[in-house]
Amino acid sequence: MRTFRVLSRSFAIRARSKLPKSWRGTNPRQPYRSSRGLKIMCCATRWQTSPGSLSKGGPDMDGHGPLADDLPLATPSEAAAETWDAIIVGAGPGGSAAAIELARRGRKVILIDREDFPRDKSCGDGITRSGISQLKRLGILSALTDQQEVEGVRVHMRNRGHRDFRYEGENDYGLVVPRLILDDCLLRQARAEGAAFMPKCRADDLVTDESGTVTGVSARMQDGTTVVLTGYMVIAADGAASRLAKAAGLRETPEQGYGTALRGYVDGCGDTPPLLEIMLPLTDVTDRYLLPSYGWAFPTGKGTANVGVGLFCRAFDTNVRTLFDQFLDVLRKDYPEYSGIQLSGTTLGAPLRFDFAPERAANSGLLLVGDAAGLISPFTGEGISFALESGALAAQTTDRCLRTGAGPWVAADDYALLLGDRFAGYFTLGNRASRRYEFIWRVLDDTFESEKPVHNMLRRAVLVPEGTGNDVESAMLDDVSPLVRVPEMPLGDDLRDVGARLNRIVRTDWPFLTRMSFAGKRADMVAFRPSLLLLLTSYLGDVEAKRRRAAATALELAYLGFLAQSGIRGIEVAAVTADATANWGDKLGILTGDYLLAKAHEVGARDCPDLVPEILSAMASACEGRVSELRTAWQPDLTVEMRIAQMRQCMAAFFRLPCELGAMLAEKNDLLNALCDYGENLGLAYLLTEDELALDRPSGSTPFASDLSSGLFSVPFLKAAQGQKGGAAARAFISHRDPARFLAEISQTTRHIKRQQLPEKYRDQAIEALSFLPQGGVAKSLSALAGYAVSRQVPKRRVL
Ligand SMILES: Cc1cc2nc3c(=O)[nH]c(=O)nc-3n(C[C@H](O)[C@H](O)[C@H](O)COP(=O)(O)OP(=O)(O)OC[C@H]3O[C@@H](n4cnc5c(N)ncnc54)[C@H](O)[C@@H]3O)c2cc1C
Repeated sequence: MRTFRVLSRSFAIRARSKLPKSWRGTNPRQPYRSSRGLKIMCCATRWQTSPGSLSKGGPDMDGHGPLADDLPLATPSEAAAETWDAIIVGAGPGGSAAAIELARRGRKVILIDREDFPRDKSCGDGITRSGISQLKRLGILSALTDQQEVEGVRVHMRNRGHRDFRYEGENDYGLVVPRLILDDCLLRQARAEGAAFMPKCRADDLVTDESGTVTGVSARMQDGTTVVLTGYMVIAADGAASRLAKAAGLRETPEQGYGTALRGYVDGCGDTPPLLEIMLPLTDVTDRYLLPSYGWAFPTGKGTANVGVGLFCRAFDTNVRTLFDQFLDVLRKDYPEYSGIQLSGTTLGAPLRFDFAPERAANSGLLLVGDAAGLISPFTGEGISFALESGALAAQTTDRCLRTGAGPWVAADDYALLLGDRFAGYFTLGNRASRRYEFIWRVLDDTFESEKPVHNMLRRAVLVPEGTGNDVESAMLDDVSPLVRVPEMPLGDDLRDVGARLNRIVRTDWPFLTRMSFAGKRADMVAFRPSLLLLLTSYLGDVEAKRRRAAATALELAYLGFLAQSGIRGIEVAAVTADATANWGDKLGILTGDYLLAKAHEVGARDCPDLVPEILSAMASACEGRVSELRTAWQPDLTVEMRIAQMRQCMAAFFRLPCELGAMLAEKNDLLNALCDYGENLGLAYLLTEDELALDRPSGSTPFASDLSSGLFSVPFLKAAQGQKGGAAARAFISHRDPARFLAEISQTTRHIKRQQLPEKYRDQAIEALSFLPQGGVAKSLSALAGYAVSRQVPKRRVL
């Protein structure tokens, strides 16, 4: 790991070069006049830190304090004489992010902190993928290249092994950066961009005018002198105990909106993985009761880690320090790579505030940012990325209102709306869920061993919901844009609009569902999914954009709702609804499905009510198909014809339905049957290909293949089972339920089955149905998609 010394030097050089010309001088102790007329004293020794203020086990300080530098600091008298565009209180991630964004826009901004920097801060130091994209935007990622990279999250369930949740994208990664380094980097960047900084300056109170609008802060320097700073906007980024939020009456935090966390640094770690390791569940001292808490071990370098515990509920009669000591014992006892760990330096604890509510995030002249606004994830305890993002939003709002001449109360309203739109659902849900139901722990516990796509998705969603609202990625979906040839149609705009609608709809109530695959890997990608088929077929007529987009949105919601419901543990469905001890993953799957179906109904009823009955009856029929599948589970003597009939009624319906709806939208009744035929055969070709692909996978599964482990036997399985050699293997599989062994045993038979080319038969029938369509881009595209359903080949990419 690069030492802090080197980091400081390189950053200081870069920072200096970015200073406004008039601030760059020859004698660092001379006062300078900034471009905005503020006289600022430079202080060459400002960054020296007393050795006692750094915990021994923290980042490598190389035995020295950080380099002194000559970036100019604001003095109280000069700062008081200025009228600022923004006064930012607190130079943590939230405050510095706001300062960077404002200074970059040429705003006159001052940042104050009660501490001298660099300063340590109680934290796990874990920065997830969404934090990385914020840091990149702020321009400090390049200064962190030597910090510990992580590839995702590993969750350990005590006594049940672990699961890895790796970031999927090519450039996705996380970091573990000691806050001593991270916060200093951010602050330096803010100053380099032109923000003034005044350390050892503690804000005591707000200054308001006669209307109650906040016009500044009164603060106290370490030597006892007071200073009053005035300006257009106060941005309070003063952390979880925010004095300014309290002064403004914005902090009536319910007791449940608090948690506590404590961390320490350890050395003596063995070979730990480059992952953020989370250990669940933690129990009380008697080791009997599950606590709404978690432990973590985040690697900070060779043999060292940041370890800690978070307790999400203060009401629990548990002391976080006792929990921490217990956790160290568990680490040493149960995890060989941590058996030799020793605490180095002091431990630090702090409150976790996750009581965010948009109406308590701003007042006229005052915007709260990060922890001050209660923006810590109630799911995971993550707060850095929320602080960075809310800081940027506060800055953008302030800048916009200054530019348009809007009053500070307008900025407060705008900011509250923006934050609400971005985070409200996520926090409301998280608060309720983690508080009342210990939701995350239960879902994880109940789905830990399940490979069902819906359980997988829900597990990821509750555990790593960071990235809420970002474009969703899915490794499952291919980009089929080169196959689509309708340049005269606004397909890209339509699909983007549908994706945005879907995200908006679920983000409000069930934000973790934004991780579902609404879109594709990239914003410009065209994924092979129901909305694509609906839009393409609707282009056969002249359909109003609003109507076809609403229909596509309702269809996607219904489709996802069906997938969520149909993924629950098949045969035990009855138990799930009747039995109070049922599986939490299944319960969540049912709730999710119901919610999505209700939303599908709502969207459809508003903008395309005539299509709703078709969607509902297709859903009902698909459900019947599903029930029929479940009734015949684990029956190797099911005939191939019966299995294909089930597929036709169940999943293939979601290929037929979009084509049917497209024909209805386009008012092409004469093409309705042909398009339904096309859709159904396309679906069969696609699904049978999935089943064949699953034969070559050790787990015997692909996201859309028949689920062997639930006894839903695919056509190739049935064919193999009904053959001579395969019969014995199938019987063995049914008694051992070991798909990998079964697949190995029947590999010869399956090669033969593949040669029978069943998917190709349905592909050809799909293409044949297209002969009724007029020649043109739509027919060509549908035909190419039918080819893709079997070949899974997409020619070289053509950007839409
Ligand atoms: C033990 C623990 C572990 C955590 N682990 C993680 C993790 O691994 N990943 C993650 O993303 N999040 C984690 N968090 C949450 C994360 O630390 C916070 O969400 C994040 O620091 C919020 O940033 P902020 O800028 O809002 O506030 P802070 O980082 O708290 O910064 C507030 C600043 O304001 C200053 N200040 C306070 N009052 C005044 C005043 N009156 N006048 C002037 N200055 C003032 C303080 O000195 C401080 O510099 C953890 C929290 C705890 C307690």
